[in-house]
Amino acid sequence: MAPIRLTFHGAAGQVTGSMHLLEAAGARILLDSGLFQGPREQARRLNAELPFDARRIDGVVVSHAHIDHTGRLPLLVNQGFHGPIWATPATRDLCAVMLADSAHIQEKDFEYLQRRGRAGAVSEPLYTALDAMAVQELMVAVPYRRPIHLRKNLTLEYVDAGHILGSATVDLRLSEGKPHRLVFSGDIGRSGLPIIRDPEVPAGPIDTLIIESTYGARTHESVADAERRLAAAVKRVAARGGRIMIPSFAVGRTQEIVYALHQMLRAGEIPEIPIYVDSPLAVETTTVFRTHPEVFDKKERLLDTTDAIFDHRLVHYIRDVEGSKALNTRTGPMIVISASGMAETGRILHHLKNGVGDHRNLVLFVGFQAEGTLGRRLMDGAKQVKIFGDEYDVRAEVEYIGGYSGHADMNELRAWVRKVGGPIRRAFCVHGEEEGLQGMAKILEEEGVAEVHVPKLGESFELA
Ligand SMILES: [Zn+2]
Repeated sequence: MAPIRLTFHGAAGQVTGSMHLLEAAGARILLDSGLFQGPREQARRLNAELPFDARRIDGVVVSHAHIDHTGRLPLLVNQGFHGPIWATPATRDLCAVMLADSAHIQEKDFEYLQRRGRAGAVSEPLYTALDAMAVQELMVAVPYRRPIHLRKNLTLEYVDAGHILGSATVDLRLSEGKPHRLVFSGDIGRSGLPIIRDPEVPAGPIDTLIIESTYGARTHESVADAERRLAAAVKRVAARGGRIMIPSFAVGRTQEIVYALHQMLRAGEIPEIPIYVDSPLAVETTTVFRTHPEVFDKKERLLDTTDAIFDHRLVHYIRDVEGSKALNTRTGPMIVISASGMAETGRILHHLKNGVGDHRNLVLFVGFQAEGTLGRRLMDGAKQVKIFGDEYDVRAEVEYIGGYSGHADMNELRAWVRKVGGPIRRAFCVHGEEEGLQGMAKILEEEGVAEVHVPKLGESFELA
């Protein structure tokens, strides 16, 4: 029997680029195929060169649609991969819009930089919209709790990770020789998030666990506290006539923030100011949300109510570039929600470029900002930032509300590990920066996991 081997090709010692190679049952299976994000040159180098021959990969198991988990799928296909890509039905549908968008953004950013004479090899698109489309042809939808055979001796079961629509924890069972069970947590969500269900935990024993560590050393404020702070921020900025710019993942956070603002408007807790969702992707994604009420939480489950979740007379969805540009000429208080979530690419850059110098405005972060991103620099209090190669003074207020995070915090991660119940023989901490990874490793050790590793990028382990 050949050994089982696991190699960490992304989200190892960092948050983005999730990609782990499992060699077992005579197959080479990738867990996720995500994009590295961060400083342009570094990300470009990491993304452009796949550390293996794509033609020799037999299949990809995708945990969820976020681009740091799926953004290298088109590249994989472009380089000759043609096996199945397994994903939940909602993840498959989200990927259709997200990967096309990822290709589009790369093309647009490149054109913009070219026009300004600032384009170089590092800003060339990694793949095209055609590559993104080719991914869709390979996708195989696997619903939650419906185990399927990937190979003769390899079974996959998805359970709901409660992180974004369609997000899954991956449960793999190998039955060649001595049975081996490998669980890949994917990104673990939180209880009580709007719209989606609470995370499910696969019951132990588990031979090998790969677990995310984003907030392995931090706690979040409660959703109720987050709502109070969001309402206070809207009131404060509206009173001084400013605009609130919210960089947000188009998938998940945007829908949740819109939903939260709706409820506040209905309850009369915030002044009636227009809310612009300025992201074609967020518009498309909202449509995908509408088509998958089967994975909504009970209270928002009925089809009749899906419109009420996303629509309000003050909420405007903007698809075209002209509509987006027109926002810059508008005066008066408003809320603009736009991608990308870490302010690295996309329309939010244009809004920040125009709005970051005005002291009346607020840049409001509602999700994790990775090291090296513009979002992180703003959050860390930078007085000047570079956007599309130009320096801008930061006079706007900057605030971070952690309560809308889609990631479990350190207490919720510990609760997840406890809920596994049976023994966990070996664990690998991924998808975190140093502090989170060490925090997660400590939690696992305290919870009795005998062997805990924090793998480095490219590091390989023999499991059995
Ligand atoms: Zn995610």
